[in-house]
Amino acid sequence: MSKLSEIKRREIFMVVVGLTGGIGSGKTTVAGQFKKLGAHIIDADKIAREMLQPQTSLGKKVINCFGQQILYKTKKKSYINRKKLAAIVFSDKEKLKKLNELMHPSIINQIKKEIREVKQKKGFRKQIIIVDAPLLFETGVNIFMDKVIVVSVSREYQIERMKKRDGLNKKDSLRIIKNQWPLGKKTKCADYLIDNSESIQRLKERIENVWEELLYLK
Ligand code: ATP
Repeated sequence: MSKLSEIKRREIFMVVVGLTGGIGSGKTTVAGQFKKLGAHIIDADKIAREMLQPQTSLGKKVINCFGQQILYKTKKKSYINRKKLAAIVFSDKEKLKKLNELMHPSIINQIKKEIREVKQKKGFRKQIIIVDAPLLFETGVNIFMDKVIVVSVSREYQIERMKKRDGLNKKDSLRIIKNQWPLGKKTKCADYLIDNSESIQRLKERIENVWEELLYLK
């Protein structure tokens, strides 16, 4: 097989799918299930966590911008206190904008790099890459995706689940929700919609249905 036709063959077997939704809508749960079904997961939050360390170039820029107050120091190591940083930026739109300007280009580049790396791996099984990115639309990452899945849930469930998972109160949840695109707007841009307002079992069934459709995409 010529090199070109081999690349084409690999391209045909590759689908890059964005996975997004509102905070607490169930993206991580859905990504975990897709992983069990065989997808390769790229997690934008994990990338952000790994890049936001005091010793990384991004971490240094963020510390320069927001000061030593965002550092959490132990005897051995210092960390960037993400909760403190979140509290600062979610109460000041200008600061949130500044943080996003610093963070988003690096995260987008890393997502693109990881997609390229998976694409370069040889293999003749259909590879489905799921890019789990809460701010997929807000950052414009959706334009690199072949398809987009939106996980939707009512605002009441979002708040209830955030409270149960993180102990976040209603006011703080609403503040984060209001800084994201409205979930209704995201659902209108979805190729696949996964409703997560019922049990985990129902959620799994819905995920399996979408998985089947992705497998049979031409
Ligand atoms: P974030 O935006 O903060 O990253 P997320 O969209 O990734 O959140 P998850 O962490 O998957 O959301 O889900 C939020 C919480 O809701 C978790 O504790 C999860 O276990 C729970 N959860 C998800 N789906 C359901 C469901 N169908 N029924 C009950 N609890 C659920």
